Amino acid sequence: RWARHDRRGPELFDPGRAAEERRRHRLAAEMPAALDRGEFVLHYQPLVRLADGVTIGVEALARWNRPGAPGPQQFIQVAERTGLIHRLGRALLEQACREGAARSGDLLISVNLSPVQLADPGLVATVADILHRTGLPAARLQLEITETAEALPYRAALIALGDLGVRLALDDFGTGYSSLAVLTGLPFTEAKLAAEFLAGAGHGGVLRHIVEACHAMGMTVTAEGIETAEQEQILRDLGCDHGQGYHLGRPAPL
Ligand code: C2E
Ligand code: MG
Ligand code: MG
Ligand code: MG
Repeated sequence: RWARHDRRGPELFDPGRAAEERRRHRLAAEMPAALDRGEFVLHYQPLVRLADGVTIGVEALARWNRPGAPGPQQFIQVAERTGLIHRLGRALLEQACREGAARSGDLLISVNLSPVQLADPGLVATVADILHRTGLPAARLQLEITETAEALPYRAALIALGDLGVRLALDDFGTGYSSLAVLTGLPFTEAKLAAEFLAGAGHGGVLRHIVEACHAMGMTVTAEGIETAEQEQILRDLGCDHGQGYHLGRPAPL
């Protein structure tokens, strides 16, 4: 169950790693009851149209509402390994759609999906059911799928989700595995450029071509991790459509 992708030969006993394994097992054991108690909540970070500064949507980000709890990077990974991600992911999606539907207007609600959820044959029906029950129009839901080797084989699921009328964003674009060729025929409506991209981007160069290539493929582009006014200006000048980052707004309850 605890897959080791980093096994490279005989393993020596490593007390640091053993402690880490114990911590993960403890988290794994605690999470189901925490989910039942409603301890997993969502914060929302603004998605801003760079041309005019209007908030066109929010990204839902999971938080474990308990003192000293780990961040989502850790607890989502644990949930993926134990399979709890299916129940947790459904609960978070439903919470986001319900909170989004309660807001009037056309604010886009963007929710992260794990590649493990993509592998669930019931996912498309679950998403359709949640939209139906919460009353959120499909066009106001965006699903973010991180660009990983695990996510991209699920072409049929991605296409079926697109057919529901929800938007699909390729998250952390530029950190992973996809060549632009892999994306052809997939209904991604948006590419979210990883913050790491920004750091080395300077005043354009490669970044300008990436924005243009995404546009040519029919995707809008969001830059993640905008932390300064200068970065915001550079990205606006590059024709980047949307921005997200501490400079534009921090994650907070809706
Ligand atoms: P992500 O989807 O790429 O989300 C963006 C992350 O960048 C968030 O971290 C956000 O708080 C952070 N961030 C936003 N602006 C800035 C900035 O200006 N500077 C820096 N340094 N960071 C910024 P967070 O909330 O800790 O989430 C981490 C990752 O955990 C997410 O990355 C996503 O992959 C995963 N995650 C979070 N919530 C969920 C969820 O509900 N379901 C799933 N499957 N994954 C989730
Ligand atoms: Mg995301
Ligand atoms: Mg992500
Ligand atoms: Mg991201």
